[in-house]
This record gives sequence, structure tokens and C-alpha cells, in this order.
Amino acid sequence: MADKKYLTVAIQKNGRLNSDSLQFLGECGLTINFDFKLYDRKKSSKVELVCVRDDDIPRLVAEQICDVGIVGKNVFLERKIALEANVATPVKNFEIIRNLGFGACRLSFAVPNNIVFEKLTDLNGKKIATSYPYLLKKFLLENNINAQIVYLSGSVEIAPKLKLADIICDLVATGNTLLQHDLREVYCILNSEAILFTASELSSQKQLILSSLVGGPVDG
Ligand code: ATP
Ligand code: ZN
Repeated sequence: MADKKYLTVAIQKNGRLNSDSLQFLGECGLTINFDFKLYDRKKSSKVELVCVRDDDIPRLVAEQICDVGIVGKNVFLERKIALEANVATPVKNFEIIRNLGFGACRLSFAVPNNIVFEKLTDLNGKKIATSYPYLLKKFLLENNINAQIVYLSGSVEIAPKLKLADIICDLVATGNTLLQHDLREVYCILNSEAILFTASELSSQKQLILSSLVGGPVDG
């Protein structure tokens, strides 16, 4: 599919990054059909949109089913580490092309009021719930911390109340969700925003289309 003359761009189908991704592509001068379906090809545009869950985008790009993708840096790095851990040959050229200036958030530790957190070593011996086990494992290893990772695919903020974990490592933007669950943010391990990325060595025809995305405006 990715060998055609169109540049295939994978974006989030719904959720927080969908409308800003479409707006970004539009502002770069690409004709986008806003009434798109799961798979959209417009003859007049030079871009094919593939609209899927954000979690699937890194694999679609890594397997060169799509030429480029837009996801949060958090999802990109998590899936990059996961793919590298599970694939014998590391994915070639799996790299960020540019930051896009929207979808800002951070991956942070947050603790309930009964947990003391003054320094990173206070994490030793704790159970930490997260949807980002690869990023968290890497951080814990790099900082010599011995903690147990509890994986949850979502609603991580309820883990302490359910006694599934002592601490969480989750995405924070405004901090409102944490407040509502009596949690306080104590340490950021990753600053994130939406990024454009690829894993392909693109043809010169596709490079030309990509250049309008690379040089296009940063929203926000
Ligand atoms: P999907 O249905 O595509 O799997 P999702 O529920 O995994 O969607 P969203 O909640 O739509 O994902 O978030 C998409 C991305 O938006 C996140 O990966 C992150 O990069 C960014 N983001 C910005 N602010 C926040 C926030 N407050 N909470 C979570 N993600 C945020
Ligand atoms: Zn997702």
C-alpha cells in the first residue's frame, strides 16, 4: 500500500489528537476530506489518510503499511521500545521527523496523600500502575529503582483506591483528573506532544509531499 504515489499518513481516528492532526494537515496546504471514512483516498489530494486507534499507528508505520504517522511522543517511544524488545531486527529509520506543537502532556508519577515522596528512591519496593510499562521499566532501570510495574490499559488513576498499586505513572495535562482522585503529581519522566514520524526511506516523489508537512505551520 505504501508504495503508491500518495503519501500515506496514519492519524488517530477519534480522541484528543484527531482534530488537531486534521487541522495541521489542512494548514500545510493538503486537501483533506473532513467527511473521511476509516480509509480515505482523494484523487485531488496527495495524501491518503488512515484513521485508526493511536496505539496501532507505530506498528503500521514500522511495517511500512503507512509512510508517516502522527501520535503523542509518549505512544511513539513506548511502542518503539516495545518493538525493539520483541523484534529480532530493530526497526530501521524509526524516527521523529518533527514536533507538531499540540497534544502537550507529560508522563508523571502521582501519589495518594498517604504516600511519602521526597526523592526517587522512595519508589523502591512500591507497586506502580501504568499504561506505559516499557517507558516506566526503562526509567526505573536507568535510575536503579526496584519497583513492581502493574499494567492497566486505561483508568490508571483509580489503581491506588482499588489497592492495585501504591503509585501511578500516567499522562497529565491540566492535573484535574489527578485532583479528582486525590492524587498529587510528584515527578515527570517525559514531556510529550504530538509528533510526525516515519520508518521508511521514502521515494523522491513522497519526499516532496512530505516536505510540505515538514515545512508547514506549527499549531499553537
Ligand atoms: P485511542 O482510542 O486512539 O486509543 P486513547 O484513549 O489512547 O485513544 P487519547 O486519550 O485520545 O488516547 O489521547 C491521545 C494522546 O493525546 C495521548 O497519547 C497523549 O499524547 C495526548 N494527550 C494530551 N493531553 C492528554 C491528557 N490529559 N491525557 C491523556 N493524553 C493526553
Ligand atoms: Zn490509545
